[in-house]
Amino acid sequence: MNVISLEAPAKVNLYLSVLGTIETGPYQGYHDLDMLMQSISLSDIVTIEKKQGVSLLTASFTGITGEIPQDEHNLAMKAWRMMQNAYGLPEGVAIHIEKHIPVGAGLAGGSSDAAAVLKGVNQLFSLGLSLETLAEIGASLGGDVPFCLYQGLARVRGFGERVTPLVSLPSRNCVLVNPGIAVLTSEIFKTYDIMKETNSSSLNNEEEKVNGFLAEPDWQKIDYLLHNDLESAAVSCYPVIAEIKEDLERVGLMPFMSGSGPSVIAFWQTEEERRHIQEKIAPKWAVTVFCRTL
Ligand code: ATP
Repeated sequence: MNVISLEAPAKVNLYLSVLGTIETGPYQGYHDLDMLMQSISLSDIVTIEKKQGVSLLTASFTGITGEIPQDEHNLAMKAWRMMQNAYGLPEGVAIHIEKHIPVGAGLAGGSSDAAAVLKGVNQLFSLGLSLETLAEIGASLGGDVPFCLYQGLARVRGFGERVTPLVSLPSRNCVLVNPGIAVLTSEIFKTYDIMKETNSSSLNNEEEKVNGFLAEPDWQKIDYLLHNDLESAAVSCYPVIAEIKEDLERVGLMPFMSGSGPSVIAFWQTEEERRHIQEKIAPKWAVTVFCRTL
C-alpha cells in the first residue's frame, strides 16, 4: 500500500464544563474539562502517500478563508513528524488535505486532520499500534486529538486525554452555522478566567445531568444537557454568536455553541424546519452546513 485516504470528521461539544485547573502531571496548569463530544458528518479528506521528500498541500472547500499553516506548523505535518521520529520512519510522505471544516471554528478541524495522519501512517507503514497508543501520541499534539481518533460519541475529560467512548446513538440531523470568523481558543479561555474571577456565579455545576445521561445515553435527554461554560466568554468577545443563536431560536430550534466557538449547532427534525433554515438562516451567515451525527 502506497497511498491511503481517510475522512477526518469535525466534532461538536454537546456539553462542556470547566472544572478548574489540572494540578499535577503532564497537563498541569491546563484547564480541567469535562465534555461530551460527538462527531458529525462534516469532514476533511486527508490523503497520505509514500513519496520522496515531504510535502503538504491543502485545498479549501469551506467557503471561508481561515489561516491554514502550509508548513511544519500544520497539525497534520506535526503528526507525521511525531510518528516519523518515534518509529524511525523513512523520510517521505505527501500529505493532501481537502479542507471542508471551517478553521478556528470550535470544530477540531486541525486536530481531526492530525488524528487522520496518525491513523493513516499507522496503516501505511504497518506499525500495528493500538488506538490507545495513538491517543497517547495524539494528546501531545492537542487536547482534541485523542477524541478525534476514537470518534462517535464520548465523554472527554482532563486536558482531553481521558476519552471514554459511549454507545453511539442513532444518527440525527443537525445544522451548523458559522459567521466566517476564526476564533483563538486561548483568547476565549483567558476571557473565561477573567469573567470567572469577577463573576463566580457564572459557573454552573451540571454534573448530575451528565451522570444521568451517562447512565443511559438517549437523545431525549440531550436538550436538557446542552451546556457550554465557555459560551459567555465567547459571546463577550464575539457577540455575533448570540445573534446566530437568536436566529436559530426564532425558527424554533435549540442552538448550542461548540468548543470555544464561534460555530453554533442545532438539531432539526421536520422538512419545515429545514426549509426555514434554508430560507432565513443560510442567506445571512457565511457558512450553513446541513449534516448528521456519526
Ligand atoms: P481548537 O482545537 O483550538 O479548539 P478549532 O477547532 O477551533 O481548534 P482549528 O480549525 O483546528 O480550530 O484551528 C486551530 C488553529 O490551528 C488555527 O490557528 C489554524 O491555523 C491551526 N492549524 C494547524 N493545522 C491545521 C489544519 N490542518 N487545519 C486547520 N487549522 C490548522
